[in-house]
Amino acid sequence: MNKEIQQTSISELGEFGLIERITKDIQLKNSSTVKGVGDDAAILDFKDKQVVMSSDLLTEGVHFNLMYAPLKHLGYKAVIVNLSDVYAMNAIPKQITVNIALSGKFSVEAVEELYAGIHLACEKYGVDLVGGDTTSSLTGLTISITVLGEVEKDAAVLRSGAKPNDLLCVTGDLGGAYMGLQLLERENEVYKVNAKMQPQMEGYDYILERQLKPEARQDIVSAFQKLEIKPTSMIDISDGLSSEIIHLCKNSKVGCNLYEEKIPMDEQTKEMAEEMNINPLVAALNGGEDYELLFTISQNDYEKIKTDPDFTIIGHITETADGINLITTGGSAIPLVAQGWNHGK
Ligand code: ADP
Ligand code: MG
Repeated sequence: MNKEIQQTSISELGEFGLIERITKDIQLKNSSTVKGVGDDAAILDFKDKQVVMSSDLLTEGVHFNLMYAPLKHLGYKAVIVNLSDVYAMNAIPKQITVNIALSGKFSVEAVEELYAGIHLACEKYGVDLVGGDTTSSLTGLTISITVLGEVEKDAAVLRSGAKPNDLLCVTGDLGGAYMGLQLLERENEVYKVNAKMQPQMEGYDYILERQLKPEARQDIVSAFQKLEIKPTSMIDISDGLSSEIIHLCKNSKVGCNLYEEKIPMDEQTKEMAEEMNINPLVAALNGGEDYELLFTISQNDYEKIKTDPDFTIIGHITETADGINLITTGGSAIPLVAQGWNHGK
């Protein structure tokens, strides 16, 4: 929090004053939003579309650390993690609601910073903020967002549709958000010992952004439409490639071979991993928070994606009995294990 700007206590403004402050500039964008903030409930009309809905809950000290996560980035990221779940259904997010619990340390200006990030994400992704709830907390900040999205009937993609011989694909690159977090935690430890030390983060802007201000793969859902591809299964990578592959395989009742040498990683991710003596493969498999999409497609769709730089084929689906394996660069098959739950270690 920037100590230099004027800090107004929330009690000065009151709960209603605060809500007015953070919602007054909202301009509704979507035809499915009939009534947004300002009544006892929002009114939505999705006509003949199907509605997808998902929530996420973030707690200070567990999911984020305000020592290094600026409030504006936190607000942005809190929206992104929800949008990512909607894209992972092959749907388009349209509305969010935001529930916050605030302890006494937060000023009106701090909440405005948080909402600046929330509004920015809404703007960028074409989503309407249509409501929420505001309450006090004894222990820091909790933020819960619910997102609603729409999808044509039968167009939603579940975790359960992968079939043997399907190709396993991923968007973007992996492990960056985790290495960004390692860097932030290292520099935060240095700062705690000596506040005069300048953080050593030059040259690592990409992985820091992956951690602090991630994006959701809106572009991929439109690409599927253009390419006329319906993935057979899909999931977003919030907990790490390993655990997401296991979710897909368990839900689809299939096995899979994942090839180590195919896993896409950025140079900065590898450099930071080397600097910290971490195997970059571990960052990609178990790191999480990449918010890329992991999906399977039929072999018939291979031609449509083979030259697209946004997609990497990292493996293929097998029978359940073959197991869920990482095929190492050396050619050995190692069963994948889920880690998950690794936020805020
Ligand atoms: P109620 O007493 O019915 O819960 P509130 O006074 O809490 O109503 O909310 C008034 C309006 O402001 C509602 O439309 C609600 O959805 C919206 N709202 C409340 N808190 C937030 C928030 N943190 N973010 C966005 N909208 C909010
Ligand atoms: Mg309320």
